[in-house]
This record gives sequence, structure tokens and C-alpha cells, in this order.
Amino acid sequence: MPHSTKAPLSENLIRLVGQPVAAIDTPALVVDLDAMQRNLGRMAEFARKHDIRWRPHAKMHKSSALARLQMQAGAVGICVQKTAEAEAMVAAGIHHVYISNEVVAPAKLARVAELAHRLAVENGRLAIAVDSLEGVGRLANAMNDRRHGGPPAVIDVFVEIDVGQGRCGVPPGRPALELALEIRRHPALRFAGLQAYHGKAQHLPTPQARREAIARVVQDVQLARGLIEREGIPVDLVTGAGTGSMVCEAASGVYGELQAGSFLFMDADYAANERDPAQPQFEHALFVKSQVMSAGPHHAVCDAGHKSHAIDSGLPRVLALEPTGELEYLNGGDEHGILKPAGANQRVPRLDETIWLIPGHCDPTVNLHNHLIGVVGGLERGRVDKIIRVDAR
Ligand code: PLP
Ligand code: MN
Repeated sequence: MPHSTKAPLSENLIRLVGQPVAAIDTPALVVDLDAMQRNLGRMAEFARKHDIRWRPHAKMHKSSALARLQMQAGAVGICVQKTAEAEAMVAAGIHHVYISNEVVAPAKLARVAELAHRLAVENGRLAIAVDSLEGVGRLANAMNDRRHGGPPAVIDVFVEIDVGQGRCGVPPGRPALELALEIRRHPALRFAGLQAYHGKAQHLPTPQARREAIARVVQDVQLARGLIEREGIPVDLVTGAGTGSMVCEAASGVYGELQAGSFLFMDADYAANERDPAQPQFEHALFVKSQVMSAGPHHAVCDAGHKSHAIDSGLPRVLALEPTGELEYLNGGDEHGILKPAGANQRVPRLDETIWLIPGHCDPTVNLHNHLIGVVGGLERGRVDKIIRVDAR
């Protein structure tokens, strides 16, 4: 396990390693490490086949140990969303970090600059996104403030264009060119290319809808890239894509890097959408282990409510296992989940029975936990292999 500034793991957790899955107290966030490794392998193979780089989004797992695993599997680096996540990753030895987001607070930009300088002497590289002239100026100021000493460093800067999500980013026309020109006025900044991420397209239910959305995205990217290149400025890299649409960006010929994050664990929301035949068959690797603590004739109650899992993308699904079969999960509040048989031949679970939940949304679910319990050999008969700290939380 990497070093972390966070408190050490408890004795109870350390003792869990090597124990059967049955020994895991509930509620707990559990990773099926075998399934996770298969997802990792599928992603690496997909990227190889499409000759595209992958830089998975670590906002999903916020774990430097998992970031390291991804880099060992072929990722060129990792994405993070926040300054503090970047710091945690760099502290744990992850040296290729892209903050795929805007940072404008001078106090945070000082920390960003500090990281850029640190990585420059450690053979690494820091990158960041911008979408305002003000942001570029403040970033340059922070990079030029040499209070911290050391040789001058350069940070890679991506211009974020709004490709349809209506979140961050400038329109893909002249404003993108103006930002690229401004970045090139500062020797401590290198214009690295375009950030073009469409979050809403990820969760469209059909492959056809996702393909249409990304086709429009690609037109926007080509517009921005063309404008910038006509000024003689090379656009070295277009970066973006998530788990839902990555097959489209990979096939586009304009993206050089994929930022998908959720593929590693998957969630009920992604699994409910129709899979593109070109998409690797990612499987569920993240589960909340919970226990039935109350059972009546028509329903049972488990000890996992929305303090255990995020419900912004819908309630969790119950993993169907013998002997209960299919169960429906209904919201019982922040500490309770209500379970009802989903079909005529199913029965109400009994007191003590273990219930495995598939969270609706993986990123904010992980964010509720200090650690993940990594299991090998399956959820029913496996054993605990390691404790994974969510150390960038
Ligand atoms: N890139 C950016 C900028 C994101 O905001 C996200 C997720 O929201 C991702 C990549 C990864 O997407 P996903 O976890 O759905 O694969
Ligand atoms: Mn997400």
C-alpha cells in the first residue's frame, strides 16, 4: 500500500486480509478484484486495438493504489478533477497527472504550480484545463511565482471546449483560438491541445443516440482544431470520453486519449444502457455488502441505505444470488434498504442473510468510504486479498 497522509488502517481491517468474505462486517464497500482485473485487461486491449492512449479518470476511485495498477496495465497517466486529488496522487508516486478541470483560485493555483515544479524534477508531467483568459493569466502568475525555488517548470494546458454538455468550456469557435494564443504568450505554459468531454452523452440509453451525440462533438472538435491550426499552432492532443461513449471517440480519428473512469467498477446506471457491440463487456466489480437486520412476511430490511451508496443515478440493484433470487431494493432512508421479492417464485430474505448491492453510480459511492475491501475468488466463496485506501478523498 502506498504512503498516505491519512490515518493508518484499523487493526480490525488489517486482520481481515486473508479471511473469508463472510468475515467482512456490513455495510462495506467491496471490490471483486478478479472482475476489476478483467475490466482493466479489456480496457488495455481496447486501447491497443484502436491505437489510442488511455488516461483513466481517478475521480472515480480516488485511490493511488488503483491509479498505479492502471498505469502498470498501460495507462499513460491519470486524470483527476481536483487539486487535492492531484496532490494525493503525486504524493503516492503517480507522476503523470492531468487535472481535467478548471482551477481559478490563486491559493489552489499556487499548489498546482508547486506540483508542476515537483513533477518537473521527478520526470513527470502535470496538465490542466482552462476555459478563461483570466484563468490562463492566473495560472501563468502561479507558475512564475518562484518562491518555492527549483528550476523553472512548464505545465501542459488544454483548452476546454463545450461540446454540448453545457458545463465548462468555451464555444468551439474563436474563443478557443484566443485561449490557445494566450497560453502561447507564457513560457511556463505549453498549449497541449483540446479537452472535449461530453458528460451527458455517456448516459444516453442507446448506442445510436450516443453515436449521434459524439458525431456532433467531433464536428465541434474539428472546428476548433481547424481554427487553431490555421494560425500555425499545432493541436497535439484531443482528450475526452467516458465509459459510455468511448467507442465513438476512439473511432473518430480525432481523439488521442480516452478519459473513461467508471469502466473499472461499472455501476447499475451504466449497465442499464444498451451496450454498443464495439464496447468491451465491462462487468460489475463494485458492491456494497449488506446484511438483513429485519425480516417480515412481505419484505426484509438490510443495513445499507444512502450513507453506503449514492442514489443520484438511481437506487442500487440487488445482485441475484441463490437462495433468494431476484430482489427489488426500495429506498428505506440513509441507513436502511427495503427488499422485496421481484418475482412470484422468489422469497423474502431471512434475518442475517447477506445482500450484495450494485450501486447506481460508482464515483459518488466510493466517495462515501475510506477504503475498499478487495476480494479474490468470488463474492460467495472468496477471501479478502487487500484493503484499498481511498486516499485521494
Ligand atoms: N472525463 C471527465 C472530464 C469527467 O468529468 C468524467 C466523469 O464524469 C470522466 C472523464 C469519466 O467518465 P466515466 O466515469 O463515466 O467513464
Ligand atoms: Mn460518474
